[in-house]
Amino acid sequence: RAKLDGRATYRFFEPEMDARMQMRRQLELDMRQALARREFQLHYQPQLQLEGNRLIGCEALIRWQHPVRGMVSPLDFIPLAEEIGLIVPIGEWVMRQACRDAVTWPAPLSVAVNVSPAQFKSERLVEMVMSALSASGLPATRLEVEITEGVLLHESEKTLQTLHRLRELGVRVSMDDFGTGYSSLSYLRSFPFDKIKIDRSFVKDLSDKRDGEAIIRAIAGLGKSLGMTTVAEGVETPDQMERIRAEGCTDVQGYLISRPVPASEVLKFLSAERSTY
Ligand code: C2E
Ligand code: MG
Ligand code: MG
Ligand code: MG
Repeated sequence: RAKLDGRATYRFFEPEMDARMQMRRQLELDMRQALARREFQLHYQPQLQLEGNRLIGCEALIRWQHPVRGMVSPLDFIPLAEEIGLIVPIGEWVMRQACRDAVTWPAPLSVAVNVSPAQFKSERLVEMVMSALSASGLPATRLEVEITEGVLLHESEKTLQTLHRLRELGVRVSMDDFGTGYSSLSYLRSFPFDKIKIDRSFVKDLSDKRDGEAIIRAIAGLGKSLGMTTVAEGVETPDQMERIRAEGCTDVQGYLISRPVPASEVLKFLSAERSTY
């Protein structure tokens, strides 16, 4: 079998390349041009603090407006971008753009930016973040980075050092998709995260499974004991929201509050009168 990785290897098998691999290679070529052609955009999804129903900030989510395919989901290109290292320049664009957008929002609203494992391998991450903050004028305290357990998978001294340096700047650090990996719990020991984002599969269980609240309750309790905020991801119904509140999560994010919206609509959303969700 031809190996999928290693360009030289699969060029050799080109005549037999299946359609999927040709698509992948086209995607790679297109993605290499997308930054220069300004085809990426950021959408923002608000996060709500349950106490007082207060908006506390938004998560930046990348969108790719592909000239032929239309809107491409990050799930369809971020993994490839990570694999071929393109996530480093793309991630830098995301960070700079997110800081520029967030500085136009009323303080103390913050912006959360997803940072990939490959970006942690790059030497320049901390300097890049500092530069994005100073170029935009956004205070570090209004920036949050979201990492998944992939970042801590090969838990190196260097990764932890990078996280600590970000924290020293005043940047907050969240553990994304908590509970889906192999050792989410043990990662909580490695680094004092500010926030745990409970993966939306557990929120879905609230509607689909008997005792679906047990895991949410446990994570909310864990967060409380450790002094971390807990945000439930993927909240879609008022019923889920009420049960999440009852289990002691501090924040929610999901379609019920808002779908991710283009940057130009964030301020409109923030100024709209909303007393209940
Ligand atoms: P994530 O960081 O866990 O982001 C949350 C995802 O859940 C987003 O998908 C969001 O649109 C979706 N979501 C939010 N609320 C709901 C809901 O109520 N129901 C449902 N069904 N889905 C909801 P999206 O935007 O497609 O992003 C997918 C993933 O792609 C993100 O997961 C993140 O891992 C990655 N990603 C997105 N933007 C970036 C980026 O700028 N950099 C990096 N490295 N990764 C990114
Ligand atoms: Mg995230
Ligand atoms: Mg998530
Ligand atoms: Mg996710």
